[in-house]
Amino acid sequence: MRVLVTGGAGFLGSHLCDRLLDDGHEVIALDNLFTGAKRNIRHLLDRKDFEFLRHDVVNPVLLEVDWVFNLACPASPVHYQYNPVKTIKTSVLGTLHMLGLAKRVKARILQASTSEVYGDPQEHPQSETYWGHVNPIGPRSCYDEGKRVAESLMMDYHRQNKVDIRIARIFNTYGPRMAVGDGRVASNFIVQGLKGERLTVYGDGSQTRSFCYVSDLVDGLVRLMNYKGEDAAEPVNLGTTDELSMNDLVALLGRILGRDLEVEYGPLPDNDPVRRRPNISRARERLGWEPGVPLSEGLGKTVEYFREATS
Ligand code: NAD
Ligand code: UDP
Repeated sequence: MRVLVTGGAGFLGSHLCDRLLDDGHEVIALDNLFTGAKRNIRHLLDRKDFEFLRHDVVNPVLLEVDWVFNLACPASPVHYQYNPVKTIKTSVLGTLHMLGLAKRVKARILQASTSEVYGDPQEHPQSETYWGHVNPIGPRSCYDEGKRVAESLMMDYHRQNKVDIRIARIFNTYGPRMAVGDGRVASNFIVQGLKGERLTVYGDGSQTRSFCYVSDLVDGLVRLMNYKGEDAAEPVNLGTTDELSMNDLVALLGRILGRDLEVEYGPLPDNDPVRRRPNISRARERLGWEPGVPLSEGLGKTVEYFREATS
């Protein structure tokens, strides 16, 4: 297959490119390098089956491919709130352009959606049938609502134009190649811990998330793209069911680093979800997918990555 990965120089995108090349596909990574970096794909640049295209998905692009993974979009609250209008354009125009491309060349397209479509969820754990609890006018809405419109566009192109779509609702994922200054909790805590700084816990640290290691997540994306059931267009949650609080995350990281970590509590960002854990029965049943990397092991690998990246 010829595969287009938008956001291919980012954290998830670069690992996905590695996996697709390992599977024998030809890969075009498209990225505007806003939060991604060439160093994430430097090891691929000399390969004949890999191409990097610096391009912004808010503008259309003409390419001939069989599959599109649409990952282009800043994922850290710090970065998606930096220029919220641009974030909305990236999700809405970017997805529109990729769907136009998929329609023209009859490619299958997978949209990287997010657990944020559930907002601050009132159903727990979150199943794909839950419609969510999103503030449409808050500081997170540029991302949440942008991704919700992207899902609507995917379904409408599917119903109206028979485009072959997949929607992955990705829950918190971490691992090597997160940017040092990414701003998400896993990278912040690890970098702060390695530098001997106090860990910045927002709120009282009781809010929960469920963290998935990047290789598991990428495997889920590839399985979903390959899935051919009647129900293939329906959204699928990808994440782990191991839910823990941010205080628990500090304690676990302390055990991995072998010392007690000091904490500095700060204000909880507006609309920060109180708890989050996916119901992954759909991914289990349809894709035979099960995340396998325990948090302690994945965090250990991520610590090693950041030890090098920050030295
Ligand atoms: P990331 O910020 O590392 O990667 C996003 C990539 O998209 C970057 O390389 C960035 O430069 C690129 N990009 C941003 N705007 C662009 C534009 N207008 N045109 C072209 N490229 C653009 O984040 P990530 O964690 O790798 O996330 C990848 C995708 O997965 C995103 O769509 C994100 O919303 C989704 N997602 C990630 C998580 C997670 O926990 N990692 C959770 C849910 C959803
Ligand atoms: N968080 C924190 N300290 C940080 C960064 C984030 O306590 O330095 C909290 C944040 O408020 C949220 C959780 O960690 O409750 C996960 O945040 P992240 O930005 O990683 O992802 P998201 O909020 O999108 O799930």
